[in-house]
This record gives sequence, C-alpha cells and structure tokens, in this order.
Amino acid sequence: MINPAMFGGYRESSSSAHASRSAASAQSAASSARQDVYHLEERLERLSLVCMAMWSLIQDKTNLTEEELLERVRVIDMMDGVADGKASRTIAKCPKCSRTMSPRHQHCIYCGAERLVQSAFDAV
Ligand SMILES: [Zn+2]
Repeated sequence: MINPAMFGGYRESSSSAHASRSAASAQSAASSARQDVYHLEERLERLSLVCMAMWSLIQDKTNLTEEELLERVRVIDMMDGVADGKASRTIAKCPKCSRTMSPRHQHCIYCGAERLVQSAFDAV
C-alpha cells in the first residue's frame, strides 16, 4: 500500500534539506566575503601607514609642503577628467593586436599578449 502522506512528508523533508543546504552555502559565502573584506581592510591600513611614512620622510628631506601634496593629488585625480578622489587607471591598447585591454588584466583577452609596463603603478 502507498501512503500519500509518506510522499508529502518526503517532499517536505527533501525541500527542507535543500533549503538547509542553500542556507549553509549562503552562510559560507557570506563568511568568506567577510574574511576577504577584513583582509582588504588590513592591507589598506598597511598601505596607508607606508604612504604616511613615505610622506613624512619626503617632508623631512625636502621643502615640499602639505599644500603641494594636496595640489598634486588634485592634478592626478583630474587626469581622467573626473574629480572623484580616485586615480583611475588608463585604458591601454594591446601591443600586439591593438585591441583595448582592461586595466584589470595583465594579458590581452583576445591574443594573450602581455601588458606593457608603462608605470610602476601598473602592477598595483
Ligand atoms: Zn591582443
């Protein structure tokens, strides 16, 4: 004999198990994202510290002023035409096929050619 309640119960528990797996997967992804943000924040703090130390050394060894630094920040910010407080990366052309290369990629996605290093900040 087939008891319909058994199938209903099975479907419900199967659905419940699927929801539990989905919830566990989402929880794991959220935990991983939190860890990524934590590591990025730590890295940003270290980079800020090194920048502050470098600026302190530059001030000690030169006559540069805080105003000159702020003016240079404004100039570099405006190099992409937008005063957004960011140094946007320039769009480069592939040295081999001349297609546009994303600043995020070190190799051309069309032909695989390596990006030419034009600035020390290209690798950042
Ligand atoms: Zn290319």
